[in-house]
Amino acid sequence: VLDSHAHLASDRFVGDCAEVLQRAWSVGIEHIVIIGDLTDAARELAQTEPTRLSFSAGVHPHEAAAFRGEEDVTRIRVLVAAGAVAIGECGLDYHYDFTPRERQRVAFDAQLRLAAELDRPVVVHSRDAEDDTIAMLRTASAAGVRGVLHCFTGSLALAQAAIDVSWCVSFSGIATFKNWERDDVIAAVPDHLLLIETDAPYLAPVPQRGKRNEPAFLPSTAAHVASVRGTTPTAVAALTTANARRLFRLPTLTTTS
Ligand SMILES: [Zn+2]
Ligand SMILES: [Zn+2]
Repeated sequence: VLDSHAHLASDRFVGDCAEVLQRAWSVGIEHIVIIGDLTDAARELAQTEPTRLSFSAGVHPHEAAAFRGEEDVTRIRVLVAAGAVAIGECGLDYHYDFTPRERQRVAFDAQLRLAAELDRPVVVHSRDAEDDTIAMLRTASAAGVRGVLHCFTGSLALAQAAIDVSWCVSFSGIATFKNWERDDVIAAVPDHLLLIETDAPYLAPVPQRGKRNEPAFLPSTAAHVASVRGTTPTAVAALTTANARRLFRLPTLTTTS
């Protein structure tokens, strides 16, 4: 199974990243997309295992107050030229509002336009910002941008807006929490647009909830998604892995696993 979203270059993994990766491979994680920022940290980590790790580059909405416009866009361009498979995570977070909303929209819009220009998918973070997210994803999609709404916790209407333009919807460990109420969305996403992720180090799934999350915990989320969709974890793993490889244009493995 493929973890489509993990912050393995985060400070939280300094010191035992090698063990974290070892545990991931040992439970059958076959690839991890490391979500990066404007630094080289995610790229450098991904280069240690180029067939099993890839990376993204972008400006998170929480960091958008510091977005420097063309200078940061140029930095993302450099990281894409160095192999970043996606732009992000970027988007809108009106729940925490760590950045003024107008600044968030400016940074998100710049990254969507870069994604159109460079033909790279976007990894989108959206929280309590559905109307603006829907408007911006429609504009981006009309410009040819592909993407994923990651760590989905929104309404069926938001998911439907993504599905309408063939964007993926990704579920994290939140979907295993007792207070999760969006199994309707898990059921509504068509097979070819379904992704799963850990969002490590955040949001460890039940039964690991409360711990630092890591890719090895992804099977718990796969199991929940499978039960909602009336299928097997193995089938969910195969489906979501193929979808992520297509979205991020990762080479398909020729070895069997
Ligand atoms: Zn996020
Ligand atoms: Zn994230």
